[in-house]
Amino acid sequence: MTAPRIAVLGLHHEGNRWAPVVHRADMRITSGAALVEDARAPHPRVTGGTVGFVRGMDESGAWTPMPIVLADAGAAGPLDHAMYLELKEEMRRGLEAAMPLDGVYFAEHGASISTGSHDPDGELYAMARAIVGPSVPIVTILDLHAMVSDEMVDMVDYVSAYLTNPHVDQVERGRECARAMRDLLAGMKTAKAFIRLPLMAPQVTQLTASGPYGEIIDYGQTRLDDTVLNVSILGGFTYGDTPYNGMAFIVTTRGDEARARSLCRELAERTWAERHRFVPRLTSAEDCVAGALARAADPSLPAAVIADVADNPGGGGRGNTVWLLRALYEAKAEGVVLGHLFDAPLAAEAHRLGVGARFDAHFNRAEDDARSEPFSAPATVLGLSDGVFVGQEGGSRAGMTVDLGPTAVLQVGTIKVAVISKRQQTIDPGYFENIGVSVTDARTVVVKSRGHFRAGFSKYFRPDQVIEADVPGLTSPNLGNFEFRNVVRPLFPLDADATWTPPAW
Ligand SMILES: [Zn+2]
Repeated sequence: MTAPRIAVLGLHHEGNRWAPVVHRADMRITSGAALVEDARAPHPRVTGGTVGFVRGMDESGAWTPMPIVLADAGAAGPLDHAMYLELKEEMRRGLEAAMPLDGVYFAEHGASISTGSHDPDGELYAMARAIVGPSVPIVTILDLHAMVSDEMVDMVDYVSAYLTNPHVDQVERGRECARAMRDLLAGMKTAKAFIRLPLMAPQVTQLTASGPYGEIIDYGQTRLDDTVLNVSILGGFTYGDTPYNGMAFIVTTRGDEARARSLCRELAERTWAERHRFVPRLTSAEDCVAGALARAADPSLPAAVIADVADNPGGGGRGNTVWLLRALYEAKAEGVVLGHLFDAPLAAEAHRLGVGARFDAHFNRAEDDARSEPFSAPATVLGLSDGVFVGQEGGSRAGMTVDLGPTAVLQVGTIKVAVISKRQQTIDPGYFENIGVSVTDARTVVVKSRGHFRAGFSKYFRPDQVIEADVPGLTSPNLGNFEFRNVVRPLFPLDADATWTPPAW
């Protein structure tokens, strides 16, 4: 096999049951040769898992990439089911046309849902398996927020989930998948063990720098050796509301099933014993405001970041709720910068009016979701930009192109507000600095992000300077705010008395 023919495709989607339905126009679709060309570009736009795999294959010898399609919906609502079926059909036709294939790589996220399916990812893997047959290797990367079904594990030969949250190792994991693909092409056979715990850790307690989740991931990595090839521990995505919600453990070995099972069981047992540590501690809006006023009044207090974790575009939030903006505005808290509010009509209006213009800013004039309340206040346009720049080193978009769309910085009372036209979370300080807003001069920085901002902002803020706000929103870690219909109960911490028995195998 001088230049193995490897299909590259993927659905990159984290579906929030309560967010608006995703249509084709809401996704970034990269098809055919452009997919591999972009992955090889200096500042790619495709997912890190695609970039790492393509580069890893390029670096490890000859191959013939057979790029099909990467559909990137990011974190959003469920896929429109008819649209998902069309996409699946496009992938099926692409795979069939690319035959004979020597391998298949899925640049997947793993938390997709549609309006008619709880498990698009598993269905896509099964479709690929049916086309290529049992002996052609299928390798997949997964975000550690994937909701893992049995089918997802059964249909592939090798799974590698991110080890970091904030995610900074997607490219590295993509390269790991390329190495695994080379070994599988050379004849390696894998064995896998899989356990899903009835533990739905709220997203804010799935950080990896410290805490119970990071500890078990780190421990798993200490168990890698010549036999244990990969340990993936996936916290899952709370707001998917599927029967597959629950922390997942996947151990892949070089054909040693007993070893895979014993390690998988050990990791699950350790985590279950520590489940109480996954219950979050949040700060009320009143306390967030009191803290901002105190920092404004007393320069000796350290500055702080308030994470609006309940409106995280990285988890399907609209990125436009105004609970914190309104509260800080009404309290006249000085030294506050706030971003990134997704409101394309407002950004466009500011661009029409120009820098220096004073006007009444109407936030959320075009929204009908009850959680996206309108808010109006007198404002001044401080700055305008196209919102395109390169992600800062250390952050989870390092070296990648960032595109916020037409962007405006507004002075709204005492608050500097960054308004963007393409919905996304605040990833690193450059998201402010590149549009003329100083982070280091601020006393309080409010970010629309659940946790990914922590990597990029760590150069200015220690973990004890980060506050997680308890306000309403589509991604609230307060699980009692949601009506779950599809998860398998009992499920901790929704059900405090949930129990679990290890599999007998
Ligand atoms: Zn994730």
